[in-house]
Amino acid sequence: MDFFKLITLISTLYIFLSSTTPTSSNSSLTPKELAYVPVNFLSLAKSPELVDWMVGIRRKIHENPELGFEEFKTSELIRAELDKMGIPYKHPVAITGVVGFVGTGKPPFVALRADMDALAMQESVEWEHKSKIPGKMHGCGHDAHAAMLLGAAKLLQEHRHDLQGTVILVFQPAEEGGGGAKIMLEVGILENVDAIFGLHVSSRFPIGTVAGRSGPILAGSGFFEAVISGKGGHAAIPQHIIDPILAASNVIVSLQHLVSREADPLDSQVVTVAKFQGGGAFNVIPDSVTIGGTFRAFSKESLIKLKQRIQEVITAQAAVHRCNAIVNFDDKPLYPSTVNNKELHRYFGNVARDMLGEKNVLEMQPLMGAEDFSFFAEAVPGYFYRVGMQNKTQGQLGPAHSPYFTVNEDVLPYGAALHTSLATRYLLEYQQPRSASSKGSSRDEL
Ligand SMILES: [Zn+2]
Ligand SMILES: [Zn+2]
Repeated sequence: MDFFKLITLISTLYIFLSSTTPTSSNSSLTPKELAYVPVNFLSLAKSPELVDWMVGIRRKIHENPELGFEEFKTSELIRAELDKMGIPYKHPVAITGVVGFVGTGKPPFVALRADMDALAMQESVEWEHKSKIPGKMHGCGHDAHAAMLLGAAKLLQEHRHDLQGTVILVFQPAEEGGGGAKIMLEVGILENVDAIFGLHVSSRFPIGTVAGRSGPILAGSGFFEAVISGKGGHAAIPQHIIDPILAASNVIVSLQHLVSREADPLDSQVVTVAKFQGGGAFNVIPDSVTIGGTFRAFSKESLIKLKQRIQEVITAQAAVHRCNAIVNFDDKPLYPSTVNNKELHRYFGNVARDMLGEKNVLEMQPLMGAEDFSFFAEAVPGYFYRVGMQNKTQGQLGPAHSPYFTVNEDVLPYGAALHTSLATRYLLEYQQPRSASSKGSSRDEL
């Protein structure tokens, strides 16, 4: 059946059903009818014209990576494309964030999220569209995420008259540790929103597959930095100095005990010191050493306990070595763990299976990685999933956060089609807003 005819049929059914059964969800559409939505959006997303356009956008963003809350050019590019599509948006939200709106302007509201920030690292992949900014790289695929959501925006706008509610397009800054989602949330972008979906590209899963799970999927996380100060001097006359290098080394060893000796072995946790800076000569002991790292746990209690113990262990162990330590957690918010809504997991599975086939919808194990999508999923029912991009015939893709990270651009139509289908079908299947507060409301931004 032609997609447009199908949508017309679905719309007619919707109008009929909503006039007869105003409080029930539209369960009368057959699974076969609903299955056409993702199948057709995937075929539209794979049209060479749309793919080339998304690839072009992704490469432009890749060449000009910007760190958290500095995504000015990226945000400008996104807004220029939304302008061309005639999609209204709100800006600035959390400095560089953009929130677009497609559909009726009325409930239900469903949100789709992409992140825009790059990492402070040097790209080592030699290719035509390598990062032009020294020391900055899209090493996590957020360039692809932004391009996919713009692709979805285009498809949604082309089918806006078929949307039975409003899709909110969230382009957020500062996912990589800055907590951009938290700030966007604080200014109310998810007010009256019934569900939010987010995705991440993954080189662990094959192209054409997706992976998700119900419940906790990613850990909560925090970051710390400590300056351990002693008294520098001649490396060959240690009796006259207070050695911060030895103190910091003992601090790092002591921090290992937090997980191995204090935490419940069944409650997964991580403490990693990933930064150690001190000294610059073979024969000079420095005045101070800076260490930094991250801690992870699934429960808020465990995360808070780790934070408190990291503070205690660093200051006390530094004191053993006659050093002074200042520990700083302040400039980075604690990320809660990312917890997928059970009902949305079931819903996601249905849509993804219709689009990709049963065997291409995979169950993933939780990871100790973290995502600030967790702030959104804490506020409203949320679902975060992986979109596979591994293609063994094209060689191994470099992993995320590595200078060799690469995106298989064949993933772009999958992401665009998943976003579009999840939002469109959500509005068809859940006609009644879930939150009582959103009934009868509309977005004044429109
Ligand atoms: Zn990342
Ligand atoms: Zn990422």
